[in-house]
Amino acid sequence: MDRAMEAGIDDVGVGVLFGLADYRFEIMALLQHVHHLEEKFGVGPHTISMPRIEPAEGSDLSLHPPHAVDDNDFRKIIAILRVSVPYTGMILSTRETGKMRREAFSLGISQVSAGSRTNPGGYSEDDSGAQFSLGDHRNLDEVIADIAGHGYVPSFCTGCYRLGRTGADFMDLAKPGLIQLYCLPNALTTFKEYLEDYATPKTRTAGEAVIAAQLANIPSDEVRKKTIHNLEEIESGKRDLYL
Ligand code: SF4
Repeated sequence: MDRAMEAGIDDVGVGVLFGLADYRFEIMALLQHVHHLEEKFGVGPHTISMPRIEPAEGSDLSLHPPHAVDDNDFRKIIAILRVSVPYTGMILSTRETGKMRREAFSLGISQVSAGSRTNPGGYSEDDSGAQFSLGDHRNLDEVIADIAGHGYVPSFCTGCYRLGRTGADFMDLAKPGLIQLYCLPNALTTFKEYLEDYATPKTRTAGEAVIAAQLANIPSDEVRKKTIHNLEEIESGKRDLYL
C-alpha cells in the first residue's frame, strides 16, 4: 500500500482473508495498518474487505481452514471494524449467505457484490472451475429487492471517483460524515436509474417506495429539491445525474 500511494494512487482498499490465522491477530494487524496509512499519508483505507475462506477446488487448506471463523465471531469482527474505522466502506462478498449479508448491513457492512462468478471468464463462458464456492446464488434483481425490502437504498453511485473526490479530498468529507450530503441524493438517483432500466416490476414497486420514503432524510431543502428534479429528469429519459 505504501508503494502504491508513493506512486500516486490516492485511494487504497485493505482486507483480510479470515480463516488462515487467529482473527484477533488479523484485526490488530489490520488496524495497525490503518493507523500507519493515516499517520504517513493522512488517508486511511477507502474500503475494508472481509472475506472468509470458503472451499476451493484443489485446495485442502480451504476445506480445513486452520482458524475458521464462526458466524458469531464474524458478526463481532464486522461490528469492531465498523466502530474502529467509521469512515471506510466495508465490503462483503457473495461467499456469505443471503441471511448473513442481510444481518451484516445492520452491523456496518456498506457494500456487497451480487450475481458474482468466481471462475476466470465466468461471465462469458461456462460455470466450471470456480475459485471458491458461493453462499449467495441470487441474481442482482433478487438481491436489490431484498435490500430495498429491508428499507435500505441500494446505491450504484460512483460520483466521488468521477469528480476526482478521492484521497485526502474524500477523507476531508468522509471523516466528519459530511459525505452523507452527497451519498444519499446520489444513491436515490442511481437507484432510480437501475429501477427504470433493469428492475423487474416487483422490484421497481419496492424501490420506488424506498426512494419516496428516503427523500425526507435529505437534510437540506435545496439538495432535496435538486434531487427531486433529477429523479424527474431520469424518469423522462436523462441518465448519469449526480452531485
Ligand atoms: S458520493 Fe457516491 S462515490 Fe462518494 S462516497 Fe458517497 S456513495 Fe461513494
